[in-house]
Amino acid sequence: MDQKMMRKKAEEIIKELTLKEKIGMIHGAQLFQTEGVERLGIPPLKMSDGPMGVRQEFYPASWMSKGLSDDYVTYLPCNSALASTWNRDLAREMGSVLGEEARGRGKDVILAPGINIKRSPLCGRNFEYFSEDPYLTKEMAVPFVQGVQLWDVAACVKHFAVNNQETERLWVDVEIDEHALRTIYLPAFYDTLMKGGSCTVMGAYNMVCGEHCCQSDFLLKKILRDEWGYDGTVISDWGAVHDTELAAGSQLDIEMSVTYDFDSYFMADPLYEKVQKGEISESVIDEKVMHILILMMRLHMLDGKRKTGAYNTPEHRKKTLEIARESVVLLKNDKGRLPLSAADLKKILVVGDNAESIHSCGGGSAEIKALYEISPLMGIKMLLGGNVQVDFVRGYCRDSKEEASDVNWQEASLENGGGSTKAAEETQEMTAVRKQLREEAVALAPEYDAVIFVGGLNHDQDSEGNDRPDMKLPYEQDLLIRELLDIRPDTVVVLTGGSPVEMGQWIHQADTLVWGWYAGMEGGNALAEVLFGATNPSGKLPETFYKTHMDCSAHCVGEFPGGQKVNYKEGVFVGYRYNDTFHVDPQFCFGHGLSYTEFAYSDPAVCTEGDDTFVLCRITNTGDRAGKEVVQVYTAPWNREENQPVQELKGFEKVELQPGETKQVRILVEDFSETGEIRIGSSSRDIRLKLNEKPGWNENGHLQQ
Ligand code: BGC
Repeated sequence: MDQKMMRKKAEEIIKELTLKEKIGMIHGAQLFQTEGVERLGIPPLKMSDGPMGVRQEFYPASWMSKGLSDDYVTYLPCNSALASTWNRDLAREMGSVLGEEARGRGKDVILAPGINIKRSPLCGRNFEYFSEDPYLTKEMAVPFVQGVQLWDVAACVKHFAVNNQETERLWVDVEIDEHALRTIYLPAFYDTLMKGGSCTVMGAYNMVCGEHCCQSDFLLKKILRDEWGYDGTVISDWGAVHDTELAAGSQLDIEMSVTYDFDSYFMADPLYEKVQKGEISESVIDEKVMHILILMMRLHMLDGKRKTGAYNTPEHRKKTLEIARESVVLLKNDKGRLPLSAADLKKILVVGDNAESIHSCGGGSAEIKALYEISPLMGIKMLLGGNVQVDFVRGYCRDSKEEASDVNWQEASLENGGGSTKAAEETQEMTAVRKQLREEAVALAPEYDAVIFVGGLNHDQDSEGNDRPDMKLPYEQDLLIRELLDIRPDTVVVLTGGSPVEMGQWIHQADTLVWGWYAGMEGGNALAEVLFGATNPSGKLPETFYKTHMDCSAHCVGEFPGGQKVNYKEGVFVGYRYNDTFHVDPQFCFGHGLSYTEFAYSDPAVCTEGDDTFVLCRITNTGDRAGKEVVQVYTAPWNREENQPVQELKGFEKVELQPGETKQVRILVEDFSETGEIRIGSSSRDIRLKLNEKPGWNENGHLQQ
């Protein structure tokens, strides 16, 4: 059915609906569901989190898990892991797994993906987001959304917009200039909604320029509806609405919240009463219902022609492993110690809590009730298959847990501004326990053929509702890593987590460093394959790994987390855009990631086809094993203006090459007209080729050099 017919049909249905029925459709009647209209065959809209898989079932009016045995699911890599693959095909496939599972679980809307820009490395929800770069974010998020929607399930891109911190997230008012807003923070929303066709979008908790996002005239009307022409459904974040008149008069379609008094929601009884009294026109409600009915038609919810889904299929687990493999980032391999050769090892020591940790069940609304989760330790043991002795010592431990509370965190999530900055607790008791664990690990380390440390962060740090105070590794891990490296300079350091950490205390001593994200249920297998060479790593950092958070522009130029207001004074200079322009060296730069093989770059050229411009080059695998390289194109402006970064990512392609093989790579470049110098490289700071003549085309359509 085309758009016009859908509108017509929706208009007919709206004529049949009573005011009460319409109101029922535009607010939560359960925690994840609206009211349907049974007499007209209109079902309720069923939603679920989230970005790493479909969340467990809750009771309709309580944040208590139903404790079912049939809502385990495929636990997918987090969006940062997916972004690390720089592989658009995998993004589409991951979206498709999520969409099929959501449908299989009977959902209509899956509250994913999270596409906010990583403005600061301290934001607790960064693991749910893709990147600091708008181009990489949209290139990965668009196919993700399209993959989800193959299954007659709506994606819900979130959180619109500039939701970049957890501290005071319900009330913080973002002050940002419109140029930065449009250049950095909005493009991924525009592309996922208008090109990717995301059927729904979630309004954010925070305020922008004095208005709450879910009631914002500027964001929802001026930009989203009038300028972009978006005709999908706008859903509020859970508890992000604050006023009946403002919400009703805005372009928000559905109000959701975390409380159980569904009839008292701003767009429930209070709205009904205002319409009855003639204070608000019923036509604004009709427009919202129109968007919802069109959504239902798009998802085939009304015509009986809907696809069936499936969850926990072997195919989904296979895809999850493929994504996890490509998400691992080899940060350092100075002495070529990796991959380890299993045949040369008799016994290895694995040290560190993250070797054993299970992460799926944490992080906030992105938590997953995983069918299973392979830890790094289990992955290593499964891969080595019994012929190598693998011993584990914890080396460090987490803080002791606070008393479990009766109140679910989400139920309490509207209190105290919605979030805070959470510092780790250091008690004397924990310090003593850690000293003992450290001494045990350090004493054992010399006795083994290889030592693998697996540490990093967990969802006590990477979590909805709290930001980190700094980038320091928790639980005295710096000390442990230093002591291990002192006694075993060949220690393989593996860090897993959702955001970068300070490494200054030991990075000069470590010659081997691997980064793994929360990489889903197969994460441990993928990591083991990389360590022992069954997989050649090909992940690249989708964000800058700063030396300290004070090297990040949000902190040293702008404000983070700010107070009631937070000023994005750094403007467009976010992530590498700041560091490269103002010569601040990161620990590891945007786009960095090594391989077990080497790639040579040659023969750069530019060609046009219609309105499109492509950068071409040849890549040769000069090493002795097959591998994948992400060829990145950065462009620099001709005459840089003050508010322009020195370079920006404008294109990339991932290419697979056998040993000795050469391929020509063709990279579509965005916004080519503004380009001065073209830089082709293996990372933002490892530029291998440059084209820097003013463009003049020869008869083959190639740029003359
Ligand atoms: C989060 C959303 C999530 C919603 C529903 C909120 O706390 O910000 O991302 O989709 O809860 O669980």
